[in-house]
Amino acid sequence: MKVMKFGGTSVGKPERMHQVAQLITNDTEPKIVVLSALSGTTNTLVSIGDALSKGEKENAKQIIDKLESHYHEFVQSLLHQEATCAKANAILAEHFEFLNIITKISFNEALNKDILAQGELMSTKLFSVYLEEQGIKHALLPALEFMSIDANDEPQVAVIRQKLLPVLAAHPGIDLFITQGYICRNIRGEVDNLKRGGSDYTASLIAAAANCSVCEIWTDIDGMHNNDPRVVNKTVPIEQLSFEEAAELAYFGAKILHPTCIWPAQQEKVPVKLLNTMQPEAAGTVITQEAGSVGVKAVAAKDGIIAINIKSSRMLLAYGFLRKIFEVFEKYRTPIDMITTSEVAVSVTIDSAAFLPLIIKELEPFGTVEVDSDQTIVSIVGNDIAQTKDILSRLFDCLKPVPVRMVSYGGSRHNVSLLIPSAYKTETLQLLNKGLFDL
Ligand code: ADP
Ligand code: ASP
Ligand code: MG
Repeated sequence: MKVMKFGGTSVGKPERMHQVAQLITNDTEPKIVVLSALSGTTNTLVSIGDALSKGEKENAKQIIDKLESHYHEFVQSLLHQEATCAKANAILAEHFEFLNIITKISFNEALNKDILAQGELMSTKLFSVYLEEQGIKHALLPALEFMSIDANDEPQVAVIRQKLLPVLAAHPGIDLFITQGYICRNIRGEVDNLKRGGSDYTASLIAAAANCSVCEIWTDIDGMHNNDPRVVNKTVPIEQLSFEEAAELAYFGAKILHPTCIWPAQQEKVPVKLLNTMQPEAAGTVITQEAGSVGVKAVAAKDGIIAINIKSSRMLLAYGFLRKIFEVFEKYRTPIDMITTSEVAVSVTIDSAAFLPLIIKELEPFGTVEVDSDQTIVSIVGNDIAQTKDILSRLFDCLKPVPVRMVSYGGSRHNVSLLIPSAYKTETLQLLNKGLFDL
């Protein structure tokens, strides 16, 4: 059994969906196909929720109508038979009726999650109808029956496995399953999701839960590149990464993977492959236990970082100081990404401002607190890079024009992280492309 996950652009046009149907029937290995919403849909659903949360019902209605016409056009080119067209139109009618009803009732966060789920529900149902038109035997599995998160909003492989295996077993003789990425149920049984880009996470969780031979992530680029192709002109794909390297790149901003999607595959040692739907013959990137070569492999950048500096002479020779500071972040469930310390000060970074005022208030008794927003973490990732002798001199050589605010080195064998003002991100990534990769 293998998992094949197709992202938004891979299913965003009728001809792409046709191509996906070909890719999943190319070989005979049983598979679970995970689909995202059509590209742009989740953004549109977010804007519907935003409009409703502000009481702008007319605006929400207009966005819904526009989305509905888009889906009707999509279905017209996707399908060619009367019976399947009628089925697809009935699916659209059901989902758009739901969205229209929501504009009439009072809005809340649980309803918003229902709105966000419509994209994956529609893409998988439409794809299933297309497979039916093509005479391709398959079963559509509702992810809401087996994909769940716990009280801390975390998915648990063992719990998912317990629910997924009976669902698969209920379809003897079927070796092609289609299901939704991104959506799940929370501890209260409500519809929820695995956060933006979460279909990758679904794929990895299913691959781990069903002990799959491989988790293939099909997207619009030929694998993990050495640098962010949205920012830097010339980038190249990386042949092989270890789970640790891939996890660091994903967490520190390489958008091709959901930030936390690697751990389930890593836990069950399922190789992950990053492949290009538009160029299926390209080698892509293979992510396994082994790192392959030593040295720097890629850089990634994560925006929206806030640096907090706490300065206190009481820290001098004191113990227990860091614990008290960390407890404040723990209390507000705000993870710390980077940390640097001196004898009298400590700097940490966080990526969420949700509880910032409360955090600052609780830190103030410890010393002087300074906050810098609009920061970016740039991570240089590779295998054993801390052992690569000249890495720091090469880094600082090429980054002379950049005011580096923090450096984290030695915490992991795979990563050197720098904190820079976001205004310098493009320049930093370009300088690193030249200085580290000669591109
Ligand atoms: P999907 O819709 O298939 O999930 P995403 O848009 O989430 O696709 O991820 C693919 C995109 O990630 C690419 O088009 C590329 O612009 C972006 N990206 C950012 N950093 C990297 C990187 N280091 N390597 C490859 N792609 C990257
Ligand atoms: N459709 C969701 C999103 O756009 C999940 C995904 O595509 O991975 O975030
Ligand atoms: Mg994605």
